[in-house]
Amino acid sequence: SLIYTDSRQFGRILWNHDLSRLGPEPLAIGLDEFRARMKPRKTGIKALLLNQTFLAGMGYIYVDETLFAARVHPLAQASRLSAARIAAIHQHMREILGAAIKLGGSSISDYVDARGERGWFQLEHQAYGREGEPCAACGTPIRKIIVVQRGTHYCPRCQRR
Ligand code: ZN
Repeated sequence: SLIYTDSRQFGRILWNHDLSRLGPEPLAIGLDEFRARMKPRKTGIKALLLNQTFLAGMGYIYVDETLFAARVHPLAQASRLSAARIAAIHQHMREILGAAIKLGGSSISDYVDARGERGWFQLEHQAYGREGEPCAACGTPIRKIIVVQRGTHYCPRCQRR
């Protein structure tokens, strides 16, 4: 049996034997491959990280948190990012996903895991859902904009374009 609660109704379940169109998993991809895949992409970094053919499994909360930690603007063009910025994104993406998995994910609305347990990573969010609250690094209010039709949270001072 399969039980699926789609609290915000953005989810999908796809059944497909051919997984070749999915990108690598964020915890499995090495820095060299990450950089090589990013180099030719002229799209905004948030849109790219959410693109499941680029990376499989990054959701909007963890993209916002990763870009905040890496101090990269969500609309920055992927192909123009410096090697240092790409390395920062790669490192923080892995750290944030690892920490979120340990804490059982983020319980926004009524999310629970397969055992019915709430996640606690939402208490660690630095950017996502903190619109108007002071940035933990500089005190500037966190701003919310819409990117690829999704609410996007960032610090306008720490994450300059
Ligand atoms: Zn800031």
